[in-house]
Parts: sequence; C-alpha cells; structure tokens
Amino acid sequence: MDLLSKKAHAIAPYTAGEQFRDKQYVKLNTNENPYPPSPRVREALSALNAEELRLYPRPDAGLLRAAVARKEGVLPENVFCGNGSDEVLALSFPAFFDADGAGACFADITYSFYEVFAAFFGIPKKIVPLSSDFTLDLGAMRRQDCRGYYIANPNAPTGIGIGRAEMEAFVASVPEKLVVLDEAYMDFFGESCAPLTKRYANLLVVKTFSKSYSLAGIRCGYAVGNAALIGGLMRMKDCFNSYPVDAVAEAVCAAAVADGAYHAEAVRKVVSEREHLRAELVRRGFFVPESGANFLFAGRGARGGQELYEGLKARGVLVRYWKKPVLDDFVRITVGTREQDDALLEKLDELLTSE
Ligand SMILES: *Cc1c(COP(=O)(O)O)cnc(C)c1O
Repeated sequence: MDLLSKKAHAIAPYTAGEQFRDKQYVKLNTNENPYPPSPRVREALSALNAEELRLYPRPDAGLLRAAVARKEGVLPENVFCGNGSDEVLALSFPAFFDADGAGACFADITYSFYEVFAAFFGIPKKIVPLSSDFTLDLGAMRRQDCRGYYIANPNAPTGIGIGRAEMEAFVASVPEKLVVLDEAYMDFFGESCAPLTKRYANLLVVKTFSKSYSLAGIRCGYAVGNAALIGGLMRMKDCFNSYPVDAVAEAVCAAAVADGAYHAEAVRKVVSEREHLRAELVRRGFFVPESGANFLFAGRGARGGQELYEGLKARGVLVRYWKKPVLDDFVRITVGTREQDDALLEKLDELLTSE
C-alpha cells in the first residue's frame, strides 16, 4: 500500500548541507557564523519566564516586528517575520504568483530553494543562465516574460554581490513586476536595499538571523516591503501556521537585532577573515570570485568538487559541493575562525601534494 500523494512522490526536495553530530568536524559547509551570537541573546534567554510558554506567542511576532522596523527604518506594518527566511521565501510564492500566471524568474545558478518552492507550489519558472563570469545577467532577466524575480544578493553559491545603485536601477526598470531580493548575506557585502522598499512598491527584501547574527539554530527570518506585500504574506502564513515565530525566537532575535555594535563587529571579523582565506586559496592556484558573503566559491580545474569534498571530509573538514554541471568543478567553503581556516588550508595542502 502506498499512501503518499503523487506530489510527494514527484517532488525533489532541497538538500541541506550535512549536519553531523557524531564526529567533530571542522564544519565549513553550511555558512553558519563561527562566532557566538550577541551576549544579549543569553540575557534574553535567562530572562524568559518558562511559565509563560504555556501561552501562544504573538501571531505577528509584534515585539520582533517592532525591533526589526526600528533597525530597518520602516514601520512595523512593513515587516513580516517567519520561521527562518526559507519560510518567508516559501510563503512568498503562493502570496504573489499563480499557477496559471507568467511565473517566477531566477538564475540557473542561485539558491536552489527557489526552484524547489516553485515546483512545490506549482508556479511556472523562467530560468536565466548566469553570464560566463558567474555574474547575474540582469539584462536578460529584465527581458523575461514573468510576474516577478527571485534574486539572491550576494548570490549563492558564487558569493558575487551587486551594488545598491545597480540593483535599484533594475527594480525601477520593472515597475510592474515583483522583485524579491534575498539578502541573506548582504551584511557581509554592502548596503541593503531594504530602505528602497519605501520608494518601490514592487520590492520585497528578505533577510535572516541565521548568518550574520549567528542564530541559525533559532530559525528566524523576515521580509521588508510595503504594507500590501506584507499583508499578502500574512494571509499565506495564516493558512499554514498562525504562529511561525515562537516565543523564544522572538525574544532572542529582538535582543540580537537591537545590539547593532556587536553585530557590526562580528561581521567585520568574518569579512576580514574571508579576505585572508581567499588570498590563501588564490595563492594555491584556486579560482575564487570575489565574495560578498561569508563563504568562498573555489575551483581548481584539475580537481573536481567531489574529489576536494571527499578528500577534505576524510581529513575531518566539511565543505559543500554539488553534483551538478558547472557547480561540480567547485566547492563552497564557509569562512571560519582563523584556526578553522588554517586547519582547512593544512588539509588542502596535504591533498594537493598527493596530486
Ligand atoms: C541561508 C540562506 C537562506 C535561509 O536562511 P534561513 O533563515 O536559515 O532559513 C536564504 N537564502 C539564502 C541565499 C541562504 O543562503
């Protein structure tokens, strides 16, 4: 007997990076932040009253919405909070796209969840290849017949970012189409487009607490956009789960987002270590595009991604690779602490001398 739906059989789920708990790896495979979250997170956790957990949390994560709104310089009605930015992105597909509409446009090499969500919600997709230098081809995207766009900026897994002026010009050039900017890594690159949501009603900016805030374990992300777009997300949320942000996540993230100084310093450390690691990889003959994220996309021709991945894993270092055309020449390496990155380079040298 098979009780699964046709959809459950047909769907190709997103494959997340491995999360081993058995062995101590140098874990540079899922873009977690190597530094701890703000000390205010610990304070918020100790201040939590366990008895109050008997109550449902705020359905709109109102406390966190207000804290995020303050940080982003918008009103609470311009903020939507969800259980990870993955959930925010997921809800955006049924909120803004129809199965019989012109569909969602995104790059062939980008965050692979967009394709999974489009398939899950039955939304047509329009795929635009990256240019040969791995940058996004915004001109080709602009010419697509579609209802809207998903753009990771900086892009994953290349790490390549687009400056705010160029991004704004794109958003302004497609006023009838929705632009969803996934800024999961923007803090490591440059200026967010979130303030532009006040000027462009077709812009939705999605962010996460998982990367620059060192809170991947809490599962929280948010979107910034005009009230009509936020309202669409709220309607969808209330069809799936009225309380996607739990009471613990709300308190923790509100504390983290209010500690701007700590956040800025954590980002600065990652960026500085990223430049060091990139230089070391380039010195070893790797091709590594300049990254605006907390990871590096590195390839070395002769050694494919799988070989690097397996050789490093056998030596206790985890990186990410994909069994897909183009991507299989590369590995994606999360920027770690100096100790972690030194360990990676040492194992890499072992591997390369055995060539
Ligand atoms: C990590 C990541 C996310 C998801 O973050 P969560 O908030 O942990 O769900 C979204 N988009 C991109 C491009 C990412 O790399």
